[in-house]
Amino acid sequence: MSHNAEIIAVGSEMLTSQRLDTNSLYIADQLNGLGVEVCRKLVIGDDCALVAEAVQDAMRHADIVILSGGLGPTEDDLTREAVARALGRPLQMRHDLVEAIEERFRRRQRKMAENNKRQAYVIEGGEVLPNPNGTAVGQWIEENGHVVILLPGPPGELKPMFTRECMPRLAQRLPAQVIRTRLYRVTGMTESDLDHLIAPVYSKFTNPATTILASPFDIHVHLRARCSTEQEAERLLAEVGDPVVELLGDRIFSRNGDSLEAVTGAELRKAGATVAVAESCTGGMLAERITAVPASSDYFVGGFLVYNNSMKESLLGIDHALIERHTAVSPEAAQAMAEQARARAGATYGVSTTGEAGPESSTGVPVGIVYIGFAGPGGSEVRKLNLPGDRTRIRMFATQAALDLLRRNIGK
Ligand code: AMP
Ligand code: MG
Repeated sequence: MSHNAEIIAVGSEMLTSQRLDTNSLYIADQLNGLGVEVCRKLVIGDDCALVAEAVQDAMRHADIVILSGGLGPTEDDLTREAVARALGRPLQMRHDLVEAIEERFRRRQRKMAENNKRQAYVIEGGEVLPNPNGTAVGQWIEENGHVVILLPGPPGELKPMFTRECMPRLAQRLPAQVIRTRLYRVTGMTESDLDHLIAPVYSKFTNPATTILASPFDIHVHLRARCSTEQEAERLLAEVGDPVVELLGDRIFSRNGDSLEAVTGAELRKAGATVAVAESCTGGMLAERITAVPASSDYFVGGFLVYNNSMKESLLGIDHALIERHTAVSPEAAQAMAEQARARAGATYGVSTTGEAGPESSTGVPVGIVYIGFAGPGGSEVRKLNLPGDRTRIRMFATQAALDLLRRNIGK
């Protein structure tokens, strides 16, 4: 049997905008550490029939079913009843639990309301999971190779109970299994081009599973292998990952999750190089990204925020005639901006952005046209981008492309 889990969060509050189910994130993380994959999770309101139905359904495709919430003393807490109904087992009052609850109230010099006894009911055959942080005990029930676990809703009670009581029991039941992952962050190509390139490799495999998550100019390729040993997992990851790396080459900028600005900064530091920027259409976003990285002062000299033409001329010394002839959104302007930024700041490299971010064109150049300039000791380079999307997206793309152009030229 495959070791899959399903998580059912019970509570009507999580079906409104008021509360989010966060317990399942914690549980999923813990389970993954044991090599158990979560195949589905549900949020269900305080409805006994719906929860009972969901438990039966979950047991058809998962061998570990975990419920959180609905173990309190009030009428709307019906997870115990729902699971009892799903398993066709009676609930049994446990006198030791009644006494423990009474004792808790006595210690606080409060009278126990009758409904608290609801928390003393355990599903026949169920094992009690102690709750040092509250009155609602958890329950562990086994049935035909399945395990159904009931946990209290408050995260401060659920987390320690899951870690202390459930993890060791689960580890004992499960064959040794590990999950190992690889992450490649890629820029400079579209998601569809990337998929076209690497799908022939990864689509042959279900283990590791490959997931591609794209945001503007930053695509995450995740590989996830599930095996009985670490060596086997690493071997499978290499089987898919190595050819993927070969195909993507230096479009992969990070293998450990680091951002493009962090990776570029680290490369600059390693090369003992510095950079200055000249920004028009990105209005400081490029400098902002570079300086968001701690210790960026090691390599970032500063920037020129030259939004209109007179600033391009006065602050950077761009030739008036050049802008007259080519306009400010042109390869010539981008190159001059990068070169002047480099020269005026005394940096190893200069990088520039100039473009039309929209929504209306102010220059006659179509919206989405952006030029990225680079200047270094070995010469200059300009890239023309034709970017889709709205103003924010175009500007974000532009900073990503500028960082990538810099990254690829470090050391050249
Ligand atoms: P209950 O066990 O249903 O009485 O839940 C008590 C409290 O725990 C709720 O009021 C929520 O604040 C919290 N809670 C319940 N379920 C979750 C969940 N899945 N994620 C985060 N908090 C939860
Ligand atoms: Mg509840």
